[in-house]
Amino acid sequence: MSLPAAPAATGTLYVVATPIGNLDDISARALRVLAEVALIAAEDTRHSQRLLQHFGISTALAACHEHNERDQGGRFLARLQAGEDVALISDAGTPLISDPGFHLVRAARAAGIRVVPVPGACALVAALSAAGLPSDRFAFEGFLPAKTVGRRAKLEQAREDARTLIYYEAPHRLLESLADMRDVFGPERLAVLGRELTKTFETLKGLPLGELYEWVAADSNQRRGECVILVAGWQAPEGEDAVSGEALRVLDLLLAELPLKRAAALAAEITGVRKNLLYQAALDRQKGA
Ligand code: SAM
Repeated sequence: MSLPAAPAATGTLYVVATPIGNLDDISARALRVLAEVALIAAEDTRHSQRLLQHFGISTALAACHEHNERDQGGRFLARLQAGEDVALISDAGTPLISDPGFHLVRAARAAGIRVVPVPGACALVAALSAAGLPSDRFAFEGFLPAKTVGRRAKLEQAREDARTLIYYEAPHRLLESLADMRDVFGPERLAVLGRELTKTFETLKGLPLGELYEWVAADSNQRRGECVILVAGWQAPEGEDAVSGEALRVLDLLLAELPLKRAAALAAEITGVRKNLLYQAALDRQKGA
């Protein structure tokens, strides 16, 4: 009597970072994994083919981009479940970071498949590591909406975030985004533009937003290539009399429903701001000050 076949061990999904410009930034481990796996799931197979050719790697490639990731995920899972190893790469940097891969990684983990990161270049981390802005806490905000109304609304949400803010931006929208940042965060807020990192024209320019906007506006070369914008986190204005925008927002909501005194008292309880400050702010608002 023959024994039932043991279930085949599943393969591993490697999430492999590739360079963001300088090919020397690929790790020895990434090269080994890419050469050894059965299949590479790539955002753009033609783009990645050039990278693999450069390193003499001939592993088969299959497309895994934002339009087919959900549908094709099953195909990669089937290969993994059959015991083959698969590597996931994007066009540049770390997959899943403003790049495809999330659905595949989630599905693989849900299916009990081992997912292994092979870390390397990532534009936001590279920019943060050299920008000289506080790096103990930061918020990666990805790409901003393309249209001004949406972009400003998104920026408003982050206006009083004390963490360093990090945005990816396309070069043709850089100037409009800097203008909106200047208007929402204020021209004095410090920012750093990281452009063409790890490449020939690498630039890291730190200036207050008002000046950074002018600097980029005056030089069209600064609107070429790839860029990351880092903005210093919000700092509460000095002095006790400052009422934060969030406290004013709460106050406005309550003023719309309640008498002034009651609204100020409740806003004080909710926000922790002194009642007399909010009372004065409510009076100013009613006077239209
Ligand atoms: N997955 C990538 C990563 O790990 O950084 C990001 C991919 S996202 C589609 C591309 C964006 O990343 C660009 O528009 C730019 O904002 C930023 N970026 C990529 N490479 C860069 C570089 N060399 N210098 C500055 N920003 C870069």
